[in-house]
Amino acid sequence: MSDCLFCKIISGDIPCEFLYQDDELLAFMDINPQAPFHCLVIPKLHISSLSATTEEHEAVLGKLALAATRICKEQGFDENGYRLVINCGEDGGQTVQHIHMHILAGRSLQWPPG
Ligand code: 5GP
Ligand code: ZN
Repeated sequence: MSDCLFCKIISGDIPCEFLYQDDELLAFMDINPQAPFHCLVIPKLHISSLSATTEEHEAVLGKLALAATRICKEQGFDENGYRLVINCGEDGGQTVQHIHMHILAGRSLQWPPG
C-alpha cells in the first residue's frame, strides 16, 4: 500500500534498524522505544489491523507470534520474560494502520497498561 508507513519500511523507502526478515515477515526496532528492547514484527502483506483479519490470515498471525517468541529467545529474554502486544483501533492505541506485534522486554512492565 503506497501511503502506508510500514509498507514503505518493507520496500526500503524508509530506513529501519533491521532485526529479522523472511518471505512473509519483517522485524525492526521501534523508533520510540518504550522498553530497553522494543521491536516490531510485521507481515509483509498489508493488513490494516487485527480487526481486518479473517481465517485466511490464520497462518500469518501464527507466524507473527512464533517469530516474536523466537526473537525473544535469541535476545535472551526467555528467563525474565517479555510482553507481546497488538494494539487495535483507536481505543487500543493503534497509530500505524498496518498490523504489527510489539515486543517489549528488558524491564519489569506494569499491568494494567495506561
Ligand atoms: P501502535 O501505536 O500503532 O501500536 O505502534 C506504532 C509503533 O510504530 C509506535 O511504537 C511507534 O514508535 C512506531 N513507529 C512509528 N513510526 C516509525 C518509524 O518510522 N520507524 C520505526 N522503526 N518505528 C516507528
Ligand atoms: Zn502497509
